[in-house]
Amino acid sequence: MKKIGFVSLGCPKNLVDSEVMMGLLAGEGYEITPRAEEAEVLVVNTCSFIESAQQESVDAILEMAELKKSGRARRLIVAGCLVERYRSEIQRDIPEIDALVGTNELPDILRAVNPESKTLQPAPAMMLPTAGRALPVLPAALPEPVTAPYLYDELTPRLRATAGHTAYIKIAEGCDHPCAFCVIPHYRGKFRSRRPESVLAEARRLAAEGVREIVLIGQDTTCYGEDLGLRDGLAGLLAQLAAVEELAWIRTLYFYPNKVTTRLLETIAAHPRLCKYIDMPLQHASPAVLKRMRRGGTGEHFLRLLEKIRSLIPGVALRTTFITGFPGETAAEFAELCDFVAAAEFDWMGVFGYSDEATSQAHQLADKVDEKTVAARRDRLMRMQKKISRRRRRAEVGRRVPVLVEGPSREADYLWEGRLEGQAPEIDGKIWLSEFPGDQAPRPGQIVTAEIIAAHDYDLVARVL
Ligand code: SF4
Repeated sequence: MKKIGFVSLGCPKNLVDSEVMMGLLAGEGYEITPRAEEAEVLVVNTCSFIESAQQESVDAILEMAELKKSGRARRLIVAGCLVERYRSEIQRDIPEIDALVGTNELPDILRAVNPESKTLQPAPAMMLPTAGRALPVLPAALPEPVTAPYLYDELTPRLRATAGHTAYIKIAEGCDHPCAFCVIPHYRGKFRSRRPESVLAEARRLAAEGVREIVLIGQDTTCYGEDLGLRDGLAGLLAQLAAVEELAWIRTLYFYPNKVTTRLLETIAAHPRLCKYIDMPLQHASPAVLKRMRRGGTGEHFLRLLEKIRSLIPGVALRTTFITGFPGETAAEFAELCDFVAAAEFDWMGVFGYSDEATSQAHQLADKVDEKTVAARRDRLMRMQKKISRRRRRAEVGRRVPVLVEGPSREADYLWEGRLEGQAPEIDGKIWLSEFPGDQAPRPGQIVTAEIIAAHDYDLVARVL
């Protein structure tokens, strides 16, 4: 059977899409290889969130196109968000591409890999526009490419690319928020949730496969279940997932600030398996900028929300994301954001410079901030956060904590890596494990107790007890 090479770019939601496509292909007997030079078919799953991500995607496509000229590859397939945004341009400008697969067309990867394939493609679970009922349809002949909103479910094969003990679960897709700088709703479509029983079934299966940590994702996880008529759907789902005994940690990313309810926070506080970790992109803190971003809220309101979160969930780790240089952002508005960051003291923070996406509403706004200022403001915030992070990390020295062991470090021979409950995979700091009792190294996926003995700007060092 053909060897297929995958390049997966962008966010964890896109990674799950890659895992679904790899699962479908492996289900048909194809071999997925990590070595692109060996592959007969190359798939690039792209991101197009902002300009720099688009450039990274185009570079990866061109790199794989080179392999098609010099290597074994016979077919080049491009999938993902860049396809949704620039389908005709990609096809016109990069003739080396043999097929395109959009974010709502994942099952079409089989036809893209092998157009002659007579294999009937598995019918995707589609959300009918009535009350969220899923109804698999078995087509009489090869179906037309899928155009209806797609969302995988517990029956969809998935070949996971994450470490064996950690897995993402996409609980919803699409977004209904009108954030002026964002184009994701244009190509990921309207918000739609998976049924709770589908998420639970997948979580149980993953736990049975040895997964200890699941990370729930979506564009906005706090909207979960609204389209299914559920009140506080995420709190309800988390309470059910917390009963899956084989799981150690259940983490949720992408909270929307004005969707965070008391019941949600109390649910997270009440269940030991639910990570005391809140990821809540705020994007700005100046009321005027938030209004222009069409997000609402104020820095004062956010500080009260953070206070409430910290009082309801003692020891909670907080992550957020900001955008600098949104059209019209004045020095005074940026200063408001800096004051907010100093007062909020987040554990983890990401900052993006505003990217003027042509199809976003913000593109129409006047008073664009020059690139140099956008970058200078981004760097200023990151410098502030580095000091805050260093102070918060140092305060953890001496604590005895549960650590999820990731495995031997790729950066230092004698060290192992791990994460705390307050550290999400890939995006936050990590913990280096320097000593093991009886020199017996733990297993990846094991939860050990360790004492924090040193702190760096973002990472910690600990000895296993
Ligand atoms: S919440 Fe806003 S920023 Fe996030 S995906 Fe939706 S529209 Fe984009």
